[in-house]
Amino acid sequence: MGARPRIAVGGILTECNHLGGVPIDISIYEASELLRGEEVLRLDTSVVGGMLSALREGNADVVPLIYASACAGGPITRDCYEQLRGEWFERLERALPVDGVLLPIHGSALAEGLDDPEGDMIHAARDLVGPDVPVVATLDLHAHVTEEMVRYADALLAWETYPHRDQFPTGQRAARLLLDMLAGKCRPTMAMGKVPVITSAINGSTNDDDPFAELMRYTKSLEQQEDVLSTSLFLIHPYMDCEDMGSGGLVVTNNNLKLAEALASDIASRYWDRRHDLEPEMLSPDEAIAKGLQVDGGPVILVETADCCGGGAAGDSIATLSALVDTAINAPSFVPVVDPEAARACHEAGEGTELSLSLGHKLDPRWGSTRTFRGTVEHLCDGNFVYTGGQWEGHHEHMGPTAVFAIGSTRVIVMSRATYDWADEQIRAVGLNPREAKFIVAKNPMNYQLAYGEIAKAIFVLDTPGPTPATLRHIDFKKLQRPYFPADSKIPGLSPTILE
Ligand SMILES: [Zn+2]
Repeated sequence: MGARPRIAVGGILTECNHLGGVPIDISIYEASELLRGEEVLRLDTSVVGGMLSALREGNADVVPLIYASACAGGPITRDCYEQLRGEWFERLERALPVDGVLLPIHGSALAEGLDDPEGDMIHAARDLVGPDVPVVATLDLHAHVTEEMVRYADALLAWETYPHRDQFPTGQRAARLLLDMLAGKCRPTMAMGKVPVITSAINGSTNDDDPFAELMRYTKSLEQQEDVLSTSLFLIHPYMDCEDMGSGGLVVTNNNLKLAEALASDIASRYWDRRHDLEPEMLSPDEAIAKGLQVDGGPVILVETADCCGGGAAGDSIATLSALVDTAINAPSFVPVVDPEAARACHEAGEGTELSLSLGHKLDPRWGSTRTFRGTVEHLCDGNFVYTGGQWEGHHEHMGPTAVFAIGSTRVIVMSRATYDWADEQIRAVGLNPREAKFIVAKNPMNYQLAYGEIAKAIFVLDTPGPTPATLRHIDFKKLQRPYFPADSKIPGLSPTILE
């Protein structure tokens, strides 16, 4: 190793869904975030920003590979994955020798015909650089941590917050751990403890006294112990259909595998004990609207989490929209629907035009039927906005041509493209004010709390069809092992599976 270590940085950060959503191809990365070589160096927020800042502080030379990220969707197309992985690998190969490799990845990506692309990349990096060069990866806390990842990485470190706001410090922690390894200050050993708990993220916040928050505080408290370098807690992204899925804890120790195993097993056992608390209470849209009408003022948040773009759904469900329209309530309501064809029809008709608009369930028709609504094109825009936080803070995003279509007092935000919900950027981008709504349909399991937590008068979680539902009790998984919670309520003799 020279005076200044050379650290390669790059990866693919995407969460994927097997139950629905649109496959992710290269055009989606190009429209979202696809940086090559030197372009990676300009990142100053999120996980890569954190890695770069710690590497510069540590007087390391950064060898930028590629960095691709996109809103969640169906599996990455095979062509797209091979292209991105190929470019990443080729740049790493050309950069040799390097002193370390940092991978900013999600952990729940899927490619067509490949259930663990990130394990594949970690393995490929290891084979290329050999056993003595550190390979460290960061993960989302919704990662599906696999045996291949644990075996071939020196250390894995996950976000600690949900809603996710600590990508930058996680990138810093990973880079510092890698530099400590190079300086001879530590020799990581690692174990993952898993239990078959597959729940949605509804009760998975790390705030207040949510069950996941209590588990997270316990997990992080273990970092105070001697020889513990890092602990992570995982609530697995539940909308994949893979073998050996589970949630639990991952512990990185300093040359003490036994301790890592014992603590990982302890975290996973505690996770198992809280499994019933992680299952949400749900209402039908009609029940939630009736309850909401009893509440004084607004907004009342109707959480249609089954259609979450950030979890890989198409965002084109009209289940809650239909219930609102059929109730014929005279209360202002905001509902987002991704439907490029309908957005185009609104733009062709022009502002102020009354028309019959066919809406919904065109991108992913498995979860409901398209329906025609009579209404008025109230507002048209280009759908551009800037994220105010999260993984894409400061990043310009595009919903594509977007319309506000008024059906009575209900305002449908008709977007051309699915985008990740951080807070309420999409609603503000079309000129609507959340404080003026009686009902707001939020299509995510958690970030509605960021957007409306301070102003919401009531929040109801809905049981509607879609590929990102609030419970995994009734999903017809093909590969996922049985038994698992919550589909199987009695699971005898359970002890955590340990990966090392
Ligand atoms: Zn996540």
